[in-house]
Amino acid sequence: MNIPFVDLYAQYKTLKNPIDQAIQGVLDNTAFIGGAAVREFETSFAEKVGAKHCIGVGNGTDAIQIVLKMLGIGHGDEVITTATSWIATSEMVTITGAKPVFVDIEPDFYCIDSNKLEAAITPKTRAIIPVHLYGQIANMGEILTIAKKHNLYVIEDCAQSHLSEWQGRKAGTMGIAGTFSFYPGKNLGAYGDAGCIVTDDDELASKCRQYSNHGQLTKNTHLMEGINSRLDGIQAAILNVKLPHLEQWCSARGAVAAKYSELLAGINEIELPKIRENSRHTFHIYAIRTRRRDELIAALDEAGISSGVHYPHALPTMPAYEYLNLDLEDYQKAIHHSQSELSLPIYPEMTDEMIEYVAETIRGFFKE
Ligand SMILES: *Cc1c(COP(=O)(O)O)cnc(C)c1O
Repeated sequence: MNIPFVDLYAQYKTLKNPIDQAIQGVLDNTAFIGGAAVREFETSFAEKVGAKHCIGVGNGTDAIQIVLKMLGIGHGDEVITTATSWIATSEMVTITGAKPVFVDIEPDFYCIDSNKLEAAITPKTRAIIPVHLYGQIANMGEILTIAKKHNLYVIEDCAQSHLSEWQGRKAGTMGIAGTFSFYPGKNLGAYGDAGCIVTDDDELASKCRQYSNHGQLTKNTHLMEGINSRLDGIQAAILNVKLPHLEQWCSARGAVAAKYSELLAGINEIELPKIRENSRHTFHIYAIRTRRRDELIAALDEAGISSGVHYPHALPTMPAYEYLNLDLEDYQKAIHHSQSELSLPIYPEMTDEMIEYVAETIRGFFKE
């Protein structure tokens, strides 16, 4: 059996007709940038996550930059984020002129360690960007309390956590703003780059919308300079077809994860993912940890199973951050994670037979 890490074609097949028609519709009415499909998506996505505003933008990376800039964050400021994420999170702090400050991860849930948060706060700190990594909600109770005490913005990086929840509140609605990616492999994926920002703050929403479209308030009225980062019509039309299925896809991912956890239970040499209390984990990634990671990847490969590593290098260890002169002793949990994490194939269309085959292959490997 051949099992890919993700299978975007399997999902396309289930929605081929409506997606093809939606794309054709955009071609027919030539609403390539902005237009009805974009407005429709913004309205439906805001409603789906329970936010007042949704602003479609070019991608999830720009979404972070736009929010930081529109909150007035820049030179001389510090923004705290996790040591374990895709580089986009910290990269966009740097691009505003601010300094990224990394905090190590929790041993159990792999998100930013809220116990180490206060020690990282200085008079220059303006914001915290928790990442709901792999679909697991960061420790929001603690993070929101600390942010409030120190008067800091919380910007949730929700690129991996569409419809994840903490105490019934959806990812993206707990801080001042949430940023989403619709990169094709994300839980809600476009067929190209796409992203959005959600917020309840009217002023921030208006500023983000202007900034993402050359600072235009209305056509040719520029109250500020901005950038070009817009959600295009074809991507929005595709997302409009997919959005009604997102809830079911997240449940299906949860079911795949539950089945993996059941079938892999009791193997001493692997650590299975845990789910934070009172939260919904949407399993963008099913991450196990093992000391024998690289050997296991080879054994899976041999059996026709693709796996992934998210991510092989903790952010503070990257050459890109040498200039920060960090003490890597402060990031031992993130470094250990980067050396032992293994992402198993997960997507809503996976069959029981496929999950069983992956689990059996892993059991077989550890029996030898
Ligand atoms: C994917 C991702 C991003 C960036 O999103 P793009 O749409 O690819 O720009 C940002 N943060 C995290 C945690 C991501 O996984």
